[in-house]
Amino acid sequence: MVACGHRAIYLLNRSWRGCPRTEDTKIKIHEYQAKEILARYGVPVPRGESANTFEDAVAVARKLFADGVPGVVVKAQIHAGGRGKGGGVKVARTREDAELHAKNILGMQLVTHQTGPHGQKVQRLLIEETADIDRELYLGIVLDRAVGKLVFMASQAGGMEIEEVAAKTPEAIFKETIDPAVGFGSWQARKLAFALGLKPSQINHAVEFFLSLYKAYIETDASLVEINPFITTKDDKLFALDAKINFDDNALFRHADIRELRDVTEEAPLEVEASKYALNYIKLDGSIACMVNGAGLAMATMDIIQYAGGSPANFLDVGGGATQEQIEHAFEILLSDSNVKAILINIFGGILRVDRLATGVVAAARNLKVKVPIVLRLEGTNVEEGRKIIKESGLNFQVGATMKEAAELVVAAAK
Ligand code: GDP
Ligand code: MN
Repeated sequence: MVACGHRAIYLLNRSWRGCPRTEDTKIKIHEYQAKEILARYGVPVPRGESANTFEDAVAVARKLFADGVPGVVVKAQIHAGGRGKGGGVKVARTREDAELHAKNILGMQLVTHQTGPHGQKVQRLLIEETADIDRELYLGIVLDRAVGKLVFMASQAGGMEIEEVAAKTPEAIFKETIDPAVGFGSWQARKLAFALGLKPSQINHAVEFFLSLYKAYIETDASLVEINPFITTKDDKLFALDAKINFDDNALFRHADIRELRDVTEEAPLEVEASKYALNYIKLDGSIACMVNGAGLAMATMDIIQYAGGSPANFLDVGGGATQEQIEHAFEILLSDSNVKAILINIFGGILRVDRLATGVVAAARNLKVKVPIVLRLEGTNVEEGRKIIKESGLNFQVGATMKEAAELVVAAAK
């Protein structure tokens, strides 16, 4: 599985490497929620409603058929793409078929190339009118970190194979870079509409569509908007048939409505647990847990662990003024990762005094009966008192005099 689900970033760089791991902590929402937001900005989306029980799903399908739609599509709502290929998107021409699909998809463990091998349990469906698809195209807006500007992307090769298009024929993805002072110009929207080979009768609608999409991106402080597929219908209409929006969580304080769309059942459980205690935690794949204060020190610690031949199990920043309670929770989180073979505590005591940290660590290690080896490297305010507390605890701690020594000790302990 790729480090993050950002297809649009991949399309831009043709590599997952440019994709920052921390993008995973950005707020993601479901397709049905993204479509509700886009509809508010005037982006055309198919008629439909979401449901989290079988009964509600049946009621939505009935209502749509009673309104005279020729068919409905039943779509699994999970925070991952590739649902179509995994069997999470099914078209039904009759009410009975719609009920059958709803029964099969709701509650299923849906495996896609973005969920990992265990898949994600489907807890909600979106039921929509079907569209009479003529062409499946692709649209995406994302920040190009290399040039520091937003890029509006469009491709004729929409649908389910867009990654392959980006890898094999990158020239098939058209890009318009957006000047932040000017914004996305209608001339740029027009250029993309023509590049997509749209019919003359569709061009003006497409321009409006793209401008609305851009407005939605800017006003919601999104970090990614992706419409795949963006479709044309046989009767010349345009629709966002799928929609993905991620938001910049640094801007969430000014979007109370978007904060409420967060679905923590879709997020990594330990990361959710950590966010409850204001701990910055990101799970990684290695065996050495790191408890650190400050993001800079966290990164330096991960580097030096790798330099010493080990590999970090996580990124955990307890912050400047961690309390004993937070330190205990931090331990609980680190220990519930079964990959962890040793813990490195690397703290520079500034606001968080070293003696207070040491007291917290000793208490947590006792209360939680920590069995894995713990290596500490302590510096800063009240470091002598801190070292004394550690030494006199009678617990099995190792102390490294320098960061390098601590890293070597912990790598040896994890072997
Ligand atoms: P994803 O696989 O998670 O990206 O889910 P999508 O929402 O993109 O759906 C996957 C595919 O299902 C689309 O590319 C379409 O080909 C198909 N699909 C989705 N909705 C409809 C619909 O209303 N009618 C038809 N005929 N196909 C649909
Ligand atoms: Mn899609």
